Amino acid sequence: MKNAPKTKMMDMTCVVCPIGCHLKVTVDENGNFLSVTGNRCPRGEAYAKEEITDPKRVLPTSVKVIGGELPLTSVRTEKAIPKRLIFSAMKVIKSIQVNAPVKRGQIILENILDTGVNVIATRTVKKQNGK
Ligand code: SF4
Repeated sequence: MKNAPKTKMMDMTCVVCPIGCHLKVTVDENGNFLSVTGNRCPRGEAYAKEEITDPKRVLPTSVKVIGGELPLTSVRTEKAIPKRLIFSAMKVIKSIQVNAPVKRGQIILENILDTGVNVIATRTVKKQNGK
C-alpha cells in the first residue's frame, strides 16, 4: 500500500487589506504551495503563495544625519522587499549618511539592491540652526 503524500497546514493572516482574512494554507512535504482556504478574494491566494515562495517585508530602520537637529532620521523601504534581502539591505542602509535638512518622504536611497524599491525618510530633520 502506498503512503499518502504528507502535507502540512499553516495558519496566516492576509495583510493585503484591512479585513485581515485568516488563511489556512496547505503545503506539501517540500514546502510547496498546494491550496488555501479562508480568503475572501483572489488576492489572498496570491499573498499566501508569495508568503510560501518568496515572502516580502517593508524594512523600517534609521539613517545617520550630518548637521541635523537630530543625529538620525527614520527611514523605510517604499514597498516590501524580499525577506531574504533584509540583512543585506540593513547593511547598505547602515553604511550611508545624509546631510540635513531631510524632508519626510525624501528618497534617501534609490533602487536598493536592484529591487526597484527606494528607501525614503519617514521623519523630517531640520538643520542644526533650525532651517
Ligand atoms: S483575502 Fe482578500 S479580502 Fe481577505 S484580507 Fe486578503 S485581500 Fe482582503
